[in-house]
Amino acid sequence: MPVDLHYRGRTIHRALDEDLYEAVEPAKFPRHILRFRNQRWAERVGLGGLTELEWEGHFARFSPLPDNLERPLALAYHGHQFDVYNPHLGDGRGFLFAQLEDDAGRILDLGTKGSGQTRWSRGGDGRLTLKGGVREVLATEMLEALGVSTSKSFSLFETGEALFRGDEPSPTRSSVLVRLSHSHIRFGTFQRLFHLEHADAMRKLVEHVVEHYFPDLQDRSDLPSALLARVANVMANLAASYTIAGFVHGVLNSDNMNVTGESFDYGPYRFLPKVDPSFTAAYFDHGGLYAFGRQPTAILRNVRRLGDSLRLTSPSLAVGDAIASFESEYARRLGERFVARLGVASAGPETDTHFAKTALAFLADSPVGYDNFYFDWAGGAASTQRALEGGARAVYEVAGFSPVRDLMELYVPRCTAMLATPYFQRSEPVTVLYDVIEKIWSRIDRADDWDDFDRHIAAIRSLGAARCVV
Ligand code: AMP
Ligand code: MG
Repeated sequence: MPVDLHYRGRTIHRALDEDLYEAVEPAKFPRHILRFRNQRWAERVGLGGLTELEWEGHFARFSPLPDNLERPLALAYHGHQFDVYNPHLGDGRGFLFAQLEDDAGRILDLGTKGSGQTRWSRGGDGRLTLKGGVREVLATEMLEALGVSTSKSFSLFETGEALFRGDEPSPTRSSVLVRLSHSHIRFGTFQRLFHLEHADAMRKLVEHVVEHYFPDLQDRSDLPSALLARVANVMANLAASYTIAGFVHGVLNSDNMNVTGESFDYGPYRFLPKVDPSFTAAYFDHGGLYAFGRQPTAILRNVRRLGDSLRLTSPSLAVGDAIASFESEYARRLGERFVARLGVASAGPETDTHFAKTALAFLADSPVGYDNFYFDWAGGAASTQRALEGGARAVYEVAGFSPVRDLMELYVPRCTAMLATPYFQRSEPVTVLYDVIEKIWSRIDRADDWDDFDRHIAAIRSLGAARCVV
């Protein structure tokens, strides 16, 4: 059976102006070796029943899904890259392959990375390295397990080509990734229409985004202003999620900002070994523009740019007013995300935020690994014995930790079952730190051994399963 009753195609992107996309041909690859199939999400969108051959047909050869796009669409956009405006962007190695609804009625896109050249390739080969694909799968699985709003890795095929890259020993292996995303509309999509002064297309885009992604705003008299305020809020949530996940995206350019507030596009990212505001992920980020501690500012700067673009059709739009709640929303979400990751019940928004800030300040001056702290203190004070029996005991006994410990006493486990789950029987937390990824990759690279990769994904999912979401 190719697709099941849950499958519903929804090709809404075709309703937008034609100059926002261009139909393209997928690359033809010499080989199609399946390396990752996200069965969990496939089932949620009615594609869980695909046979291996059907999966390969759709996600490596890109034959269209039923009731869906007949030809893939490369999307047009611009964006600020490291603060410099680039009007030559657009999908240079990817396309929108299909759009569908999940079992909760949300519209989701299947988009690609590494699927061939387009008019926006700018001399690039349109390909993705296998290591890049493996890194993105690990990032999305970990972020999802930590409760961050993120694109999902849906499928990864190795494609049998030899690629040359400056940042990997070359030749290196190739892959094609399919992502599942809640929209592919970037801040840069709006910036492009502003730049080209396409007012009609801008009006249509704003209506489209509100109708399909923020339908509760539809009755608002000033749509651009309502949309901007909402986007500021969802992006504040994303910024707080990164801080609590200890995640450094690396390339927070405005073309990598999804209007729905979903995180995506994982190139040179890093998870923090320990709290360090100056920690930078991309080796080419010489000025530390997107360092860990500067991510909220970088994201807010992009929200402001989105607001400036919306002024094309709303010259009186008060951008500053619309995004004024970013900081307070960030602080509120920081507390909310922190207690969620610790697996404790909220003690009230202000106390939660104070708790998060106190703990982060302590961790910035301590040798305790970020993942270790959350692992040791899962469930709050209920884990005191676990924490003090672990390797970081000495750190938790110093006087500087007392403010954190005092606050910990206010917190009880969000659900009693958490500490009894398989994940908390491990002796150490599962992480996606740089060295862990390099070890997984070296097994693949040297011996074509995928066991570590598969096992790691299972371990990450056990972390996700241990989270008690209420
Ligand atoms: P990214 O760094 O993946 O966000 O990409 C920035 C821009 O460069 C986008 O327009 C990409 O499509 C394009 N790009 C990056 N790498 C390649 C490549 N190997 N071939 C073609 N285009 C690329
Ligand atoms: Mg990108």
